[in-house]
Amino acid sequence: MHILSYTHNELKDLFEKNGLKRYRALQVLDWIYNKKVFDYSLMTNISKEDIELLKTSFSLELPQIEKKLVSADGTVKYLFRYSDNATVESVLMDYDYGTSICVSSQSGCKMGCVFCASSEVPFSRNLLGYEITAQILKAGLDSNKTISRAVVMGIGEPFDNYDNLVNFLNVINMKEGFNMGGRRITVSTCGIVPKIYEFADLCLQVNLSVSLHEVTDEKRSAIMPINKKYDIASLIKACEYYFEKTNRRVSFEYALIPNQNDSFDHARRLSSLLKNVMCYVNVIPVNPIDNMKTHQNSKNLSGFCAILKENGIPVTIRRELGRDIEAACGQLRRQHDI
Ligand code: SAH
Repeated sequence: MHILSYTHNELKDLFEKNGLKRYRALQVLDWIYNKKVFDYSLMTNISKEDIELLKTSFSLELPQIEKKLVSADGTVKYLFRYSDNATVESVLMDYDYGTSICVSSQSGCKMGCVFCASSEVPFSRNLLGYEITAQILKAGLDSNKTISRAVVMGIGEPFDNYDNLVNFLNVINMKEGFNMGGRRITVSTCGIVPKIYEFADLCLQVNLSVSLHEVTDEKRSAIMPINKKYDIASLIKACEYYFEKTNRRVSFEYALIPNQNDSFDHARRLSSLLKNVMCYVNVIPVNPIDNMKTHQNSKNLSGFCAILKENGIPVTIRRELGRDIEAACGQLRRQHDI
């Protein structure tokens, strides 16, 4: 059992089953999440006997930092290695409002989006919930920064690893622990429609981002294979349901790929697709990856956004951080593998 897998209530029961007092759960959570101590021997208000019990029953291991790259803009990319040698990348970014982390949910990705570097390495395995949580704790320890927001936008498709994602969200959200509010967390999906409904029904206050990137089924299916299974109409319907249930607008991510999906006609069609949907559009200047011919930014960025705005759709442009260390959206791929 890993200590980072459990919420306070779960831990109280588990402690009791393992011969520990229930109140120890709160003490241990305080050491880990507030005092940032990851060694039971250093938890001074816990008896020697109980420390031994904890050591034998609950792992506290964090992943190793295999590699760390620092960008000119201050963004930090970590390559983490877990005990079975599975690796993932996480990215730490500084914004005006604080430090944000982009975590990975799987080691590799099965979704096959053609513009994303995470599709280039073979899928290795799902991460367990505690392994996602551990990326935040390890990056916090190493950087000595207070991480106030998290986006599940690193390697992997979070809704292809649903139960572990939900475990991670429940743990990181826990008041007695890290206490990261749902509104400070964003989960990004390529569009696994049934999971959007399931996730909506949980009524967490988490932000949902959906990678859209195209406006017709034919073209979207050509760059995002998941669209062959769940088309644009069913995806948008699911997003409307998410808003109905949670009262939170979905954010549609649209990476502008020059001469492919960045024409003003695309902008108009995107506007009509989304005109009755409570949403935002987050336009992402596409980031270069190896197998992409076009490495330049779209010249249409401002015109594209202007058309959306004219049509009443709120638009934000994603600030790209860490391109020089391949830490920006779509550039994560477990660097030591190549
Ligand atoms: N699997 C999830 C989360 C990972 S990708 C998803 O698909 O949403 C995080 C975001 O980066 C997604 O919106 C993805 O489409 C986008 N992205 C992927 N490759 C990109 C690239 N080369 N440039 C810009 N954004 C990219």
